[in-house]
Amino acid sequence: MTLCGNITMSNHSFRYTGPIFDAHTHVIDIDALKMLVKVEDEYGISKALTIVHGESIQEYDEMFPGRFIYARYFSGWTLFTEGPRQAVEDVKTLRERGYDMAKIHFAPFWSDRLSDIEHVPPIDSHDFDVLFDALMDEDIPVLVHIGDPDTYFATRYTDAKVYGTKEDHISEFENRLHKNKELIFQAAHFAAQPEPHRLQNLARMFDNYPNLNVDLSSARWMCREFGRNPEQARDFLIKYVDRILFATDCVASKLDRNYYEGRHSSLRMLLESDVKKESLPFVDTDTVNSGGTFIYGLNLPENILEKLYWKNAEKIHNL
Ligand SMILES: [Zn+2]
Repeated sequence: MTLCGNITMSNHSFRYTGPIFDAHTHVIDIDALKMLVKVEDEYGISKALTIVHGESIQEYDEMFPGRFIYARYFSGWTLFTEGPRQAVEDVKTLRERGYDMAKIHFAPFWSDRLSDIEHVPPIDSHDFDVLFDALMDEDIPVLVHIGDPDTYFATRYTDAKVYGTKEDHISEFENRLHKNKELIFQAAHFAAQPEPHRLQNLARMFDNYPNLNVDLSSARWMCREFGRNPEQARDFLIKYVDRILFATDCVASKLDRNYYEGRHSSLRMLLESDVKKESLPFVDTDTVNSGGTFIYGLNLPENILEKLYWKNAEKIHNL
């Protein structure tokens, strides 16, 4: 879908009018998905990668033919308790079942959810070699969640014995990038490193691992951290633009239009506008007691937006 003229929403005019691919969404409920698609249409998103939390994509595909690239979700429940054997079998038939990507979630909270396991294996664990190797053999890119915001580690993950440190999680991920150099990785949430003091390390990782890509979800995390030093963030996005994908991480699970709109409008405002200290249109629970989160527009050039919004995804998927 191509939209003509500026798109006006919530009193903000977005100047980019080309097609947009959302590289990270989730589907849980079909009615919620219908609502998400409506909001996407209004915000210029014509295609998306969606992580399927269920067994079948048929229903979604019949309702929205050609709109989605599907990612198979490998649940931590099974992976971390029973090991990757079942997932490896699953990978072998993913493509023929309509999936073009895999999603695996590594996050400290698994240590809480799986309290009967002493230690949830990290992403670089030898146990997972067979799974990442299988994905590599089948040429299936993988979307990984490797870590959470610094704000979480300062509040809810303070016990490093239970949760590990954020630095641990980043270096474990780096070991995995190193082990599977032929596998395309999309690390969610800017590889957990949008914080200004982490950009230098992310730059080093981009320089060392051509198989590393990152996405721009989540809206509040990106707006909050890029807003701390917008000039630095802008320079970084322009320099590494070829490795960065637009993404909202919207989860189609509830009929809450404001939720979907807030993520779309704030991210587009962040990337395209030149607003200064514009309130995030929804609550950021991490800053609710410290003054709130504000958007500082990065005002990125057209050719940069084109890559973030579409062209980079085209290099990974058949759009
Ligand atoms: Zn997600």
